[in-house]
Amino acid sequence: MDFNLTEDQLAFREAARAFAEKAMAPHAATWDEEHIFPVDVMREAGEMGFMGMYTPEALGGMGLSRLDTSVIVEELAAACPSTAAFITIHNMATWMIASFGSDALKHEFVPRLASGEWLASYCLTEPGAGSDAANLRTKAVRDGDNYVINGSKMFISGAGSTDILVLMARTGDADSGSKGISTFVIPADADGISYGKNEEKMGWHSQPTRMISLENVRVPASYRVGEEGDGFAIAMKGLDGGRLNIATCSLGGAQAALLRARNYMHEREQFGKPLAAFQALQFKLADMATNLVAARQMVRLGAFKLDSGDPEATLHCAMAKRFATDACFDVANEALQLHGGYGYIREYPLERYLRDLRVHQILEGTNEIMRLIVARRLLDDGVAEAIQ
Ligand SMILES: Cc1cc2nc3c(=O)[nH]c(=O)nc-3n(C[C@H](O)[C@H](O)[C@H](O)COP(=O)(O)OP(=O)(O)OC[C@H]3O[C@@H](n4cnc5c(N)ncnc54)[C@H](O)[C@@H]3O)c2cc1C
Repeated sequence: MDFNLTEDQLAFREAARAFAEKAMAPHAATWDEEHIFPVDVMREAGEMGFMGMYTPEALGGMGLSRLDTSVIVEELAAACPSTAAFITIHNMATWMIASFGSDALKHEFVPRLASGEWLASYCLTEPGAGSDAANLRTKAVRDGDNYVINGSKMFISGAGSTDILVLMARTGDADSGSKGISTFVIPADADGISYGKNEEKMGWHSQPTRMISLENVRVPASYRVGEEGDGFAIAMKGLDGGRLNIATCSLGGAQAALLRARNYMHEREQFGKPLAAFQALQFKLADMATNLVAARQMVRLGAFKLDSGDPEATLHCAMAKRFATDACFDVANEALQLHGGYGYIREYPLERYLRDLRVHQILEGTNEIMRLIVARRLLDDGVAEAIQ
């Protein structure tokens, strides 16, 4: 067992950090303030390989492991958690086509997604189906060589500004549950698609979030990803890695917030001493660092499990997502507290990190649903091996 990053991983980290510091960090506050979706920067990220990190090289991706990916994403998120998170959603959608699409579909879409030329949205949630995603109602009906899709999707990241929708719809009967769902690739400007307003959110301002309505949207049957009825399983496989990615975005944000708090403790004086001299604050910083490192190890363990095809990978990804997004939100909150009143002021980035990290406890499965996944597995047989 070796906990050190490899030479390659150290090089990825350095390259990602240099990119993030140059192309993202100086602009993140403006993107947040002005609600700018930085498409050009994502194209630049594509040139670095970051839009297809765990997509195979043969399809234009970097062909990296989830562990490698996590090392890169953490650096991007330290600069801007919101933009990094969209990049990961795009990576997840791209991976789903690359992993489960037909050869023709892969070659038609994946290279242009992996290069960042096209951007993708992942469309699972509906107005009436969030946590209970298997209950989705958007319907895809076969009509000759096409499917005709009707329904609506809620809270879709990037919607209205992306090129491709990777969308889950029901091809089975109304009561077919998770077995009656299929996944489709849909050009985002297809006839019959309309977009709602950009939701006014607490954070994640550098990416739009919109509702999507689909009215008699016709897609070729060849745009189905995988077999009919496999769509829910494909969506969940995407989310295993997606949850690690979101957890990693929390790691990056928390690391940046913690380092700022540490520096501020040296700079700020009260009662004739720097904040760093107060043991109560030293202990706070120590607990923040400890929880951050624990969270990072859980994310890397989940990544290792996914990379090695471990049957308990889903369990570990859910545990890592729950723990890391909660722990990192708390780290960012304590970092804000250590800044006193200045932490609450927009001029400092602490409140942005906090707003951005908050949603990581909600999306790609809420942290209650992560507990549900873990608890279900724990109540099965074979639990000892699963968590040892
Ligand atoms: C900014 C943002 C971006 C998003 N981007 C995307 C995207 O790109 N693509 C996409 O498909 N979706 C996206 N989502 C949707 C997100 O995944 C859902 O909001 C999330 O899964 C929760 O669904 P819900 O909002 O319907 O809440 P609900 O499912 O209604 O849950 C409400 C509350 O009840 C709890 N709850 C529900 N069921 C249970 C249960 N059985 N046991 C215990 N507690 C339970 C939940 O944890 C939550 O606290 C995004 C959401 C946001 C806010």
